[in-house]
Amino acid sequence: MARAEFVYLFAPELYERLVWFGRLRWVAVIVLAVSSVLGPAVGVEDVWPALFIVAVFVAAYNLYFTIVLGRRSREGHPYERLRACAVRQMLLDLAALLVTVHFTGGLQSPVLVFFVFHMAIGTIMLPTRVMYLIAGGTSLAVAAVYVSEAEGLIGFHPLDPAFGMCGRMCHVNMVAFAVALVGIVYLTDSVTSRFKERNIELWEATEALRRRTAELQEILHQMEVVEERKSHYMRISAHQLRSPLATVRTSLQVLTEGYVDPGSERGRKLLAGAVERVDGLLEIVNDLLELAKMREGRARAPWTREVNVNQLLADLFDALEPYAEDRGVRLVPDFEGVAILDWGIPPDLVYAFENLMQNAIKYSHRGGEVTVRLRVADGTLTVRVEDHGIGIPEELVEDVLLEFVRAPNAKKHAPEGTGLGLAIAREAVEAHGGTLVLESREGEGTTAIVSLPLHRDPATENGAGSMGSEGDTSAGVTDA
Ligand code: ATP
Ligand code: MG
Repeated sequence: MARAEFVYLFAPELYERLVWFGRLRWVAVIVLAVSSVLGPAVGVEDVWPALFIVAVFVAAYNLYFTIVLGRRSREGHPYERLRACAVRQMLLDLAALLVTVHFTGGLQSPVLVFFVFHMAIGTIMLPTRVMYLIAGGTSLAVAAVYVSEAEGLIGFHPLDPAFGMCGRMCHVNMVAFAVALVGIVYLTDSVTSRFKERNIELWEATEALRRRTAELQEILHQMEVVEERKSHYMRISAHQLRSPLATVRTSLQVLTEGYVDPGSERGRKLLAGAVERVDGLLEIVNDLLELAKMREGRARAPWTREVNVNQLLADLFDALEPYAEDRGVRLVPDFEGVAILDWGIPPDLVYAFENLMQNAIKYSHRGGEVTVRLRVADGTLTVRVEDHGIGIPEELVEDVLLEFVRAPNAKKHAPEGTGLGLAIAREAVEAHGGTLVLESREGEGTTAIVSLPLHRDPATENGAGSMGSEGDTSAGVTDA
């Protein structure tokens, strides 16, 4: 709003006026130069050097402004710069005019009317308050020249030496001149004020429209990204479901069409294989549902106040101990500080940390060690799950966070797995305003790093789900 107050012309319009003004100024330069050269013929015998200097001065700053304006296209100039340029040009013009007036007869100068011309143009382009100041200043400056000439402090250079100073009448002329300058600002303003208001309104509307358009473009872009992700996700999901389904179908076909007797040893093996495949399919479907639920918003599980992450991790250590033991891996806790999230969804956090710890155990070698480090600093909780297992090939370190991506070395090390665990874990961490990143070197080990803000209020975040009732922080931990 504060800025709109000064937008009387749009930048491109202001630019056009300044360019137009620049051209007019060349005409003034030519007239001045010609009059100085023809000096004696036009009755300015002794003052022609002064007029010539003024012509050179005007030509110099006009050249400067022409270059500055020409440096960018019509749309390339910011409004503030153009306005400052307009004010500077106006002040330089007035100074040049004042000197010219002095050398062409003071109050009798024919050049005097150009002051009026400047006031009118200036009032269209600039704030009226500024123009009243300029009109007042100009009147004072002209009066100072007039008084100095009258008092003999500076020379008097009439166009026709036959005429002297205009005497007392000139006092009246001087007052009339001052009134004319201020009056022309007033008149021009009263004629153009409606137009100025309209331009301000138009400017505000244009700004609002521009902002809205930018917002819409952003939304459109996001929608495209979401759409792309969705179709990628659907294609991969379908692909993942198709191959086990095809195998099951083949087994059943062999049995139903009588090629193999269902009661025979081979028949039973086929059936057992089909059951195993179906179990795998169920696991994928369950994980997909889990992911879909997380992506649809957090309405399913209530946000809970004061979630104690130390407690939650400690419970996970207990829950995962048998699994780790089974795979010959030692679990090592390394907690420094107590991390209590202002708000959290315990089941989602359990899911995230459980997946990371499970991966670390699953992809470790026998006899390996998995360390879970917890640190709290500057309102942020960091949990690092470190292992010294098979690691992730460099080119897949980011991709394994996407659905269904499993590295070849992982498939070899542990054939079972859906490749959905990390995607779900990341979704859960991001829902809490945090980040999940992996650092890994193939053959050396992996560290999954979770950072979570301690004091985040989901009610004030975009897209946060409804707040649920407060609950026990350890809710859902033991089902790990
Ligand atoms: P699921 O979690 O369903 O059992 P998964 O473990 O393969 O299957 P994610 O947890 O999403 O699926 O992990 C994706 C891939 O990331 C893994 O297949 C593996 O290639 C890689 N990965 C994840 N964690 C580790 C780790 N700690 N060490 C080595 N590779 C890992
Ligand atoms: Mg996993």
